[in-house]
Formats: sequence, structure tokens, C-alpha cells
Amino acid sequence: MLSKTIKSVLVSIIILFLLTPSGSAPGKANQTSTVKITIDAGHGGHDPGSIVSGITEKSINLQIALKIKELGEKHPGLDFAFTRTTDSYIPLLDRLEYAERHGSAGYLSVQANSFWDPDVDGVETILDRTRAQGGASWDMANLIQESIVSSTGARDRGLRYQRLYTRHTNIPSAVLEVGFLTSPSERRRLTSLNYQESVARGIIQGLLIFFS
Ligand SMILES: [Zn+2]
Repeated sequence: MLSKTIKSVLVSIIILFLLTPSGSAPGKANQTSTVKITIDAGHGGHDPGSIVSGITEKSINLQIALKIKELGEKHPGLDFAFTRTTDSYIPLLDRLEYAERHGSAGYLSVQANSFWDPDVDGVETILDRTRAQGGASWDMANLIQESIVSSTGARDRGLRYQRLYTRHTNIPSAVLEVGFLTSPSERRRLTSLNYQESVARGIIQGLLIFFS
């Protein structure tokens, strides 16, 4: 496994490549093989997720997923599929089944956090308890977490373990909690298209590094 320092250097190098107008990231993801990834916009339809000051989590999640769709087209090495592209509710196990049918090498659910304390903010990535530290999910989650933090400048809350529905698949998977709707400043950022784009960029960069 790569050390944390080497990963940080890799993240910086990839970001430099991506920031260069004509640049492209090195690695096989940009060459001939295509890596299939399923992106899930958390909640949807009758399940709004958290609602804070009139902002529903399901719509923030969807907006970020659609940004990934848009930006992902510039990276032919990554073939994204989406559990939903509209405001609809898909049962959780159907989302995993969809990812498996699509032959996905990675499954990421985009979510927004909430907490009683409005001062709490930042990005965290959650793994199911069955995912071993140093395993594929953990490695992928680590790189994406680091990459979102560096593209957004948000507080790094690191990785966390919880019992998740993703335990029902063997696909490397994680839940990305990309910010707190209960933090007034982070809520404002999460509703801005620019910030959503930087979150999406971070997710894509992390994937490019993991799969290169
Ligand atoms: Zn949620």
C-alpha cells in the first residue's frame, strides 16, 4: 500500500495535470481501458434526506452527481453510470444491483451531512464496517476524501466506519459526505455551482488516481 505521504504527492501531481488547460492525467484511466463507476445521488423522491433552511439534501446530492456526469465526459477512461439523474427514489439494494449490472469497479454515494451543532463542518467519507483498513474501499475512499478536501479547501474530517447498505456488495464502495447543511457557511457553499463543481472535480481526481 502507498504511504500517506506518497498519496499526498500523487494527489498534488494529478491536480496539477488537471489544472493545466491541455493537460490530462497519467495512468491507464486515460488510455485504452475504461473503468466503470456508479455514482449514487443519495436519497431522492419521497426521501429528501435532511432539510435545512429550505435546502433539501436530495437536490444538493443530485446537483453534484450531475456535475460529475458533465465533467466526467472529459475523462473517457472513466465510464460513469448514475443510479438516478432525476428526483426519484430508488430502493437502496436496487442501487447496488444497478452498479453490479453495470459492471462497476467502484460505487460512490454522494451525500450531505447534518449535525445539531452549526459550527461543525467539513468533508468525511464513510465506509461500511466490513471494509478492511487498507482494502480497496478504504484506499479508494482515502484518495477521494483527500482529493475533495484539496479541491474544495473544506475541513478534512477523514474516514469513518458505520454499518451501511453497501455491505451488500463486493464493489469497492463508500459514502461521501461532502459537507454539512447545518453549517450556515458550508450550506451556502454547497448550493453554489462553483463549489459543487469543485466537489465533483475532487471526486473525479480521486478516482483517476485510484484507478491509474
Ligand atoms: Zn444523506
